[in-house]
Amino acid sequence: MPLPPSSETESVPQAHCPLHPEVLATGICQRCGTFICVDCRRRGRDGRSYCGPCLNKALPALASRRDRFWANLVDSLFVTLPLLGGIIMPIIAFSDSAKEGPDDFGVFLLLSPLLVLVVTLGIQIAMVVKTGQSLGKRWRGIRVIRMNGQPITIVRLALLRNLLPVWLSQVTGVFGLVDALFIFREDHRCLHDHLADTQVVNVESDRPLRPY
Ligand SMILES: [Zn+2]
Ligand SMILES: [Zn+2]
Repeated sequence: MPLPPSSETESVPQAHCPLHPEVLATGICQRCGTFICVDCRRRGRDGRSYCGPCLNKALPALASRRDRFWANLVDSLFVTLPLLGGIIMPIIAFSDSAKEGPDDFGVFLLLSPLLVLVVTLGIQIAMVVKTGQSLGKRWRGIRVIRMNGQPITIVRLALLRNLLPVWLSQVTGVFGLVDALFIFREDHRCLHDHLADTQVVNVESDRPLRPY
């Protein structure tokens, strides 16, 4: 049965820890619902409390660095290759008729890099907001979610996970490198994951948690 929102923090009067019957329970495991005492209480990376056996089973497995690398590469190519086409197309088209000046179709061609970018980024953003998966992530069976297991919103995705890192890279020059190197930490979370409070997990292991 779903627990009320405050069940995790409320004291549990008269309930005893099953592993330490002499000790009063101070919380409830958010996966199996068993009473837990202070010693038995484990804090998951979603910030919620679990009993020892549930700690690793409750949370979805983190995506491997290899899957994240390949997903990233595919996503980058999906945006950059069409963009390159959008840039080259007008250059070729105008190379013959440079002196005549652009007509309507010429203006359309000049705008083509922008149009290409809007379409490719639009597809990726729509996919991630709907399923947590970009094209590359879908291919590798991984998805991005909030640390508390909730889906990511479009504002968080666009501003904190994409635009802010791009801006920081422009300003500092080294943000991109540091961001990528963070993947080698134990939690596999890049700096942009920390900025956006997100994690990338395996879809297979991403089972719904007990509701808040
Ligand atoms: Zn449990
Ligand atoms: Zn205990």
